[in-house]
Amino acid sequence: MSDTMPEVRGKLVESKLLSELTWLRVGGPADWLFMPADVEDLAQFLAALSRDVAVFPMGVGSNLIVRDGGLRAVVIKMGRGFNHIEVEGNRVRAGVAALDAHVARKAADAGVDLTFLRTIPGSVGGAVKMNAGCYGSYTADVFTEATAVTRDGKIVTLTADDLQFQYRQTELPEGWVLVEAVFEGPSGVPEALHTRMEAQLKKRDETQPTKERSAGSTFRNPAGFSSTGQADDTHELKAWKVIDDAGMRGATRGGAQMSEMHSNFMINAGGATAADLEGLGEEVRKKVYDSAQITLEWEIMRVGEPTPRADQ
Ligand SMILES: Cc1cc2nc3c(=O)[nH]c(=O)nc-3n(C[C@H](O)[C@H](O)[C@H](O)COP(=O)(O)OP(=O)(O)OC[C@H]3O[C@@H](n4cnc5c(N)ncnc54)[C@H](O)[C@@H]3O)c2cc1C
Repeated sequence: MSDTMPEVRGKLVESKLLSELTWLRVGGPADWLFMPADVEDLAQFLAALSRDVAVFPMGVGSNLIVRDGGLRAVVIKMGRGFNHIEVEGNRVRAGVAALDAHVARKAADAGVDLTFLRTIPGSVGGAVKMNAGCYGSYTADVFTEATAVTRDGKIVTLTADDLQFQYRQTELPEGWVLVEAVFEGPSGVPEALHTRMEAQLKKRDETQPTKERSAGSTFRNPAGFSSTGQADDTHELKAWKVIDDAGMRGATRGGAQMSEMHSNFMINAGGATAADLEGLGEEVRKKVYDSAQITLEWEIMRVGEPTPRADQ
């Protein structure tokens, strides 16, 4: 494929191990990793790239299991050139490589409340794509618009209608790469916003394995049943509770473990492969189904090929 790769100003690397780029520290190689110099570099690259080649944009890999065989794709990862944060009035314009925590802090300095982003360890690109949220607020609540580069290299502006925000997902077309987002938050007093964020961080550290290698909540909270026995989203069950009830807190497979601290967090306790992690997750789903007839749905995205290539 190298003969057919477009010229770039940024960095283009062949066969890059993705375990170096994911929070769980697992994942085989991407065929290519492209770190564009700026938006024009990205747009020209995508316009010139053969349409047969898959494109996978990646943030900081905090919601991903990349399988052990890696990705037959060009992984696009934004770095410098995409991490600006500018505040104007109550609007915050941020490049997709800016970390959610930095955006929240800079907004708070300027008296804008984006505090819910403070404890989410991802980047702005991942926050928009996944409609990240916590403490009752979602990215969709503060989203104004985003700029993206389409798979064929056009620079477009996207509204909330275009993205169709839902729980932890959007309708961003395959191969489109977000490059910038604009958020608008309510006003707040900077000191009070910082105090709230400190309290949220403390609460996280007390209840979740924040120092371990994880990808956040493994499964969505399942829908419950109303008093009439109808399936009902408003009576939500807690994923951690049904995992506990199935006896899977602390369960292990290879180096993968359901955290003792929070049973809906799956951790790489040392030397786990993606197969260990995904296999453990599937075992939890089966145990929960067998014991309570509840089907858990993955919240962590799983991508790539299960089997390593012969030359890996
Ligand atoms: C300890 C811990 C706690 C967490 N707590 C929360 C929480 O409270 N709430 C929550 O919502 N999530 C939580 N997460 C999950 C995760 O942090 C979020 O989903 C985050 O938004 C992912 O961002 P990322 O940059 O790491 O994206 P990645 O994991 O790299 O990618 C996730 C998805 O976003 C896409 N994507 C990333 N960047 C772009 C881009 N520029 N253009 C197009 N698509 C892109 C990728 O293709 C992929 O589909 C937690 C994770 C951890 C490890």
